[in-house]
Amino acid sequence: MKIAVFSAKRYDREFLTAANAQAGHHLRFFDAPLDDDSVGVAAGYDAVCIFVNDKADADVLKALAAGGTRLIALRCTGFNNVDLKAAAELGLKVVRVVTYSPYSVAEHAVALLQAINRKIHRAYNRTRDSNFALDGLMGFDLHGKTVAVVGTGKIGCVFAKIMVGFGCEVIGYDKYPSDNFLALGTHYAEPGEIGAKADIVSLHCPLTPETYHIINAESLARAKRGALLINTSRGGLVDTEAAIEALKSGQLGGLAIDVYEQEADLFFRDLSSTIIADDTFQRLLSFPNVIVTGHQAFFTEEAITTICETTIASATEFETGQALSNEIKAS
Ligand code: NAD
Repeated sequence: MKIAVFSAKRYDREFLTAANAQAGHHLRFFDAPLDDDSVGVAAGYDAVCIFVNDKADADVLKALAAGGTRLIALRCTGFNNVDLKAAAELGLKVVRVVTYSPYSVAEHAVALLQAINRKIHRAYNRTRDSNFALDGLMGFDLHGKTVAVVGTGKIGCVFAKIMVGFGCEVIGYDKYPSDNFLALGTHYAEPGEIGAKADIVSLHCPLTPETYHIINAESLARAKRGALLINTSRGGLVDTEAAIEALKSGQLGGLAIDVYEQEADLFFRDLSSTIIADDTFQRLLSFPNVIVTGHQAFFTEEAITTICETTIASATEFETGQALSNEIKAS
């Protein structure tokens, strides 16, 4: 099957090529993201393989279908960038990678939490400049603190388990509470209780119309003063302007993010020699108590291997007319 792989980085080429060794699909890699400008190159390809910031809205999907594409294979879990209704109307199948190392993302969330709490980013810079002063580097014990996990699915549960191991009280919020989460010795709470109690809030729910800006001026005002917010899920969960105001007033004690609402214009490329035009993002970077990583939480060898193997397996299922194990359907 002919597959056009968009937003292809060196590691995508390497791991997809390895995963495809037996299957033998014809893979063509494009550096460009899928969008209105690049969609034309997919003409004649049975499938497109896309990532988190590729655009698969109704117009792009229409162009893909007109060019003969029949399968959209997301090499990620989230699918907020695909118009599933339009895909269904056009007869396009959509698959994703439902499960790959939840440890990769959960462990990165823990790394961000540890770094923002113990000011590792600042200590790293200081000691390289032979500055061994401790002023400004004080953190707090995680032991005994209350951690809120918003979205207690696969990643949320792994994160919760690690936090329980630190000796934290872990409370969760989920639209669909699960026994797996409760089995960790945790409990569920309503947003009001989470706001009042949580010293740390970590976001692990998908971005949907319902969760868009779930962290906003109102929820930040309800939060415990000085709480830390960790977001490794999707940028659109947080109203960045509201977070900046809360950081300025000290209401938010620290912010560590792996995702950013406007990340499509920034992440996954080297912009070190260019001027960043996004003033909101630049303002975020100016805070000593903000850490940004560029959507790398998934980026472990184990996760990439599984992502690529699952994507190739989905393409083979489609080609051979089997049921699609990882299909996403419009609800
Ligand atoms: P999952 O489906 O196992 O868990 C998501 C949980 O969110 C579920 O328990 C679900 O019930 C809950 N949820 C759904 N709607 C909700 C709502 N309105 N309010 C509260 N909870 C709600 O998914 P997962 O594998 O744990 O992944 C979670 C998210 O992590 C993904 O949607 C994706 O956005 C993000 N992610 C980020 C990276 C990264 O590299 N930064 C990598 C993978 C996944």
